[in-house]
Amino acid sequence: MNSHDFLRIQSGLSIQDFKTLEPILLDFNRFLTLRTFVGGYTLSQKDKTLWSNLRMNKVALGLIRRSAFLNVTRWFTYLETTCPEVQDEVKVRQNEAKTTTAQASQSASRYNMQLQDTENGVVTRFPPEPSGYLHIGHAKAAFLNDYFAHDAFKGSLILRFDDTNPKKEKQEYEDSIVEDLGLLGIKSQRITYTSDYFEQLYQLCQKLISDGNAYADDTDPEIQKKDRYNRLPSARRDRPASESLAIFKEMRDGTNVGKQHCIRARIVFDSDNGAMRDPIIYRFPRWEEDETPHPHHRTGWAWNIYPTYDFACPLVDSLEGVTHALRTTEYADRNEQYEWFLKALDMRHVYLWDFARINFIRTFLSKRKLSKVVDTGRVTGWDDPRMPTVRGILRRGLTVNTLREFMLKQGPSRNVVNMDWTTLWAMNKKSIDPVAPRHTAVEEKYIVPVTVIGGPDIPYGETRPKHPKNPAVGTKMIAFANKILFDQADATLFKEDEEITVMAWGNAFVRRITRSDEGVVTDVLIELYLEGNVAKTDKKVHWLAACGSELVKAELWDFDYLLSKDTLEKGDDLERFLNPVTATTTDALLDSNSATLSEGDTIQLERKGYFRVDKSINKGPGGKMVLFKIPTGTLKG
Ligand code: ATP
Ligand code: MG
Repeated sequence: MNSHDFLRIQSGLSIQDFKTLEPILLDFNRFLTLRTFVGGYTLSQKDKTLWSNLRMNKVALGLIRRSAFLNVTRWFTYLETTCPEVQDEVKVRQNEAKTTTAQASQSASRYNMQLQDTENGVVTRFPPEPSGYLHIGHAKAAFLNDYFAHDAFKGSLILRFDDTNPKKEKQEYEDSIVEDLGLLGIKSQRITYTSDYFEQLYQLCQKLISDGNAYADDTDPEIQKKDRYNRLPSARRDRPASESLAIFKEMRDGTNVGKQHCIRARIVFDSDNGAMRDPIIYRFPRWEEDETPHPHHRTGWAWNIYPTYDFACPLVDSLEGVTHALRTTEYADRNEQYEWFLKALDMRHVYLWDFARINFIRTFLSKRKLSKVVDTGRVTGWDDPRMPTVRGILRRGLTVNTLREFMLKQGPSRNVVNMDWTTLWAMNKKSIDPVAPRHTAVEEKYIVPVTVIGGPDIPYGETRPKHPKNPAVGTKMIAFANKILFDQADATLFKEDEEITVMAWGNAFVRRITRSDEGVVTDVLIELYLEGNVAKTDKKVHWLAACGSELVKAELWDFDYLLSKDTLEKGDDLERFLNPVTATTTDALLDSNSATLSEGDTIQLERKGYFRVDKSINKGPGGKMVLFKIPTGTLKG
């Protein structure tokens, strides 16, 4: 196997995505038809590498175990059973994966080295298509571009709206992207639009055609696809430039003849690299039958035809002065094509830097699916805390710093991973815990009134720190009284005469527990025993004075994953795997200090966890505050 094929299969096998894997596995399968080993007659390092890549890729492994590609399955199982040493590499890589998190903070500086030629300045660009709200995957791309442009080097960042497809793009999305980058603290020096270059791109395409580097093709799209697969030239490949130019003009004018055509680059029809087999560079938008064509959100009806991403991206990068273009690894096959366009048009060279796409379990990042849950009312909007959008996760209580640190740590990895949310939330907890003020809440339903023998007849307040270890967080007032409130969940476990600790007060004996016929605790009598040792009790309970202060009403919300399975596979019906219940709410009373909290504040409710204030007391429904629970990476959270 030559090294080009080997590298292509190797990098393809590191991507856990069916669409990428299918052609790779097909090629590999064909290659193995009459072979036992990749390198010929004996086991080689190439076998080991490909075997371990396949073994580490859940999607590929599933296909192989199901014998979807017979020769690959034969090769894979033969190596597995007769050459146990192939497993070693997998073990090493699994261990590596475990330690990457630990080393990740050092890695950021390590990958600065990977950018070439930075002495002449660094200009990066983040090129979202304004066809949806930014999600956590986009955040990775945005942070990496921002990091190279502003932290690693003193360069600049371009925010480019890649608006070459009027079908999906809207002003609303464009505005939201600008706002969300603001939320992430990412500043771009320039905002540009691919659509601003439409005239220039048109002329560059004319030049390609004139130079014999592109042609107009009216081959049926299905046949085009087959020809490309079978490495056959199009029947129109050698048509004279003058003819192609005339047709290109007809395409621009949207004539009937024009509409039959697309423009294809004339690269290498039988290249080993599929991306080089005469890709389409200009075409008409393909409206579905049930779609009414609508104008481009910026250029209106000015253009009938649009450049493809493959064509527009390298040219605009070069025209705008981008020095380093960061792209996700699924474009790696197209790097050769990217460079070809710039050479063919004699344009300034741009360095490419590939990084891995990131995915998360129990959710989906496809804009189509995200729009669907919004449109069907499964969630309240793009900023719903269950959404993997930038707005959603920040509203759920993730801090921007955590998100940034997390994404930069992923930086140089080229393995497409399906991340577990727990790592991210555990990191978040570490950042909020040292600064989150402590508050107390008791649940309103089945609230337990408590009489305290030895408690003050006249309530009084005492000043206490809001955080046990961080005085900078400030102080709060705790009210003491002889009537207090417990949570039912605590009271129901008490035994008579048991010694408990009443937090921030001291020990007490439970003297009497009154229950309703249904077994619900309706009343408790305790007797203070402040000389008791708080280290010796099993139960330490939070509480609130029932009088002497204004308790704050609040709704405590908790959320679950959108999906009931880790990863949606191709062909899975989204509807079937959406969790039926993903939000629960509990009414609670909070200490009076909570009244001053404002939207966006993060607090800890003693023994209940961390919460983000979604609505302050003035903004919430019926004067109630709204708090969202912040996952911490443990339990189901
Ligand atoms: P979608 O499939 O949801 O439309 P996309 O890749 O087409 O996603 P773009 O708006 O074109 O979305 O993406 C802008 C930038 O964000 C691109 O550079 C793209 O590579 C990057 N990006 C998108 N999704 C992810 C992801 N899951 N992980 C890392 N980077 C991503
Ligand atoms: Mg895209």
